[in-house]
Amino acid sequence: MKKMNVESFNLDHTKVAAPYIRLAGTSEGEHGDVIYKYDIRFCQPNKEHMDMPALHSIEHLMAENIRNHHDRVVDLSPMGCQTGFYLSVLNDDDKNGIENVMEKTLNDVLEAKEVPACNEVQCGWAASHSLEGAKEIAQKMLADRNEWGTVFAE
Ligand SMILES: [Zn+2]
Repeated sequence: MKKMNVESFNLDHTKVAAPYIRLAGTSEGEHGDVIYKYDIRFCQPNKEHMDMPALHSIEHLMAENIRNHHDRVVDLSPMGCQTGFYLSVLNDDDKNGIENVMEKTLNDVLEAKEVPACNEVQCGWAASHSLEGAKEIAQKMLADRNEWGTVFAE
């Protein structure tokens, strides 16, 4: 297959074993700072996906809470295929550390009483949320915590 510009377009999605956390790419600035982009895959590609309201709510919850556990988060955003998220952090190539940060962040989701910023002032589709669904996603991801380090099926 022709090599494409987007890193994940060169990933064989039939070979991965979700859930996992994978370093998807790096970008280095002229002063040596490096942005590390992680593929946080919750669902097995083309077998399962997250429903939009639940995905949207877990996005809000993780985006807000992860910054309590890591002080160099650039971005955390959902994939359009609804199977995972991209997490970009500055100067942090410690994948085990990222796994621990994700574990803490997902535990915050389980304990949440409400979805932060789910109103028409702070969000672009405030009607599309599910706290219950977000918790189900977090629960499922945490249940497979010991598999996050394995990206490819044996
Ligand atoms: Zn929103």
